[in-house]
Amino acid sequence: MTNPLSARQILDQLVSFPTVSRDTNLPLVDWVEGYLASQGITAHRHWNEDRTKAGLFAHAGPLVPGGVILSGHTDVVPVDGQAWTSDPWVVTERDGRLYGRGTCDMKGFDALAIWALAEAHRRGLRRPLQIALSYDEEIGCMGAPPLIAALQSEYPKAALAIIGEPSRMKAVNGHKGGAGYRVHLRGFEVHSSLLPQGVSAIMEAARLIMWANDRNAENAAKPASAVAALFDPPFTTLHTGMISGGTAHNITAADCRYVMEFRVVPGEAPEDWCQAFEAEVAALRSAMQAVRPEADVVLERFFDVPPLVPEADGEAEALVRRLTGDNATHVVSYGTEAGHFQAAGISSLVCGPGDIAQAHQADEYLEIAEFQAGQAFMEKLLADLA
Ligand SMILES: [Zn+2]
Repeated sequence: MTNPLSARQILDQLVSFPTVSRDTNLPLVDWVEGYLASQGITAHRHWNEDRTKAGLFAHAGPLVPGGVILSGHTDVVPVDGQAWTSDPWVVTERDGRLYGRGTCDMKGFDALAIWALAEAHRRGLRRPLQIALSYDEEIGCMGAPPLIAALQSEYPKAALAIIGEPSRMKAVNGHKGGAGYRVHLRGFEVHSSLLPQGVSAIMEAARLIMWANDRNAENAAKPASAVAALFDPPFTTLHTGMISGGTAHNITAADCRYVMEFRVVPGEAPEDWCQAFEAEVAALRSAMQAVRPEADVVLERFFDVPPLVPEADGEAEALVRRLTGDNATHVVSYGTEAGHFQAAGISSLVCGPGDIAQAHQADEYLEIAEFQAGQAFMEKLLADLA
């Protein structure tokens, strides 16, 4: 066994790997796996389909149920086009802050979790501690469900999960869920003077977008449920942020591509919204094909985040409140992997160092005071589990 590293030294290593979601995270995973092995801990990988990325999970303490999972993602958003004062892949300390891509979102927490696991193994625990480090969080949380399944098949089931997204170490017990589609409509080209003989992919897409507008108006007019009222806006929203298609003003468009996203309040299921949308698409497809059998609508689901529903007497919330002394109720508007853990039957809460306002920015930073608060939290957690 080699000497353990400090959380800060681990952070330096993690940030040095440019684990942008579109690229591999394997060099980081190799390093973490090697470091944990040097501390006597065997980690396990969960590979993606083409083995270009892996999630990593590990366990310390007795092989019994009822443990605590510390969950983080290893991927970060790109730095393309951003003006950075210092190298984004080197942790640079200035003005009481640690600058670097991912310091806030969320390699700061990852470093603390890895540090805590090594300490847990060294000190010995009464109640187990596990870590789960995922990939592809920033592009739709698609890496979490298989990682959670792999973790649960390898080790006794944990009681609760703490998802360390930046919350300034506040206990966040609710967030909206989400789902997203890439939509590709295939029309049929004719001269626009012969409009009824063709299918304009753009004009058909407009019907689906108008359906979304109508749902927004309907949702806004409905009275908000108690849990929905915690959010701003207090209802589910549907949004199209990108669209392209067509080749000329006088040709019915052969293609139109756009994206549709759903931000779903707890108490409603993203799956229900997806079904409603897909039914709408199926009806539109039939109408388009009645004009031209070649016409079609192709859907690709590209993100899927269940809402985090505030739990009545949740175990995760009780533990974090005990450790942080934070007794206020907080919800956030961003999605996290907490919804996936909760959907897998694990009490879940978001609590991590840093402010979400710094995430994804040029000159992303984590305040040193926040990192220290995170470390103090881990110390208390270790004492609680010992
Ligand atoms: Zn994040």
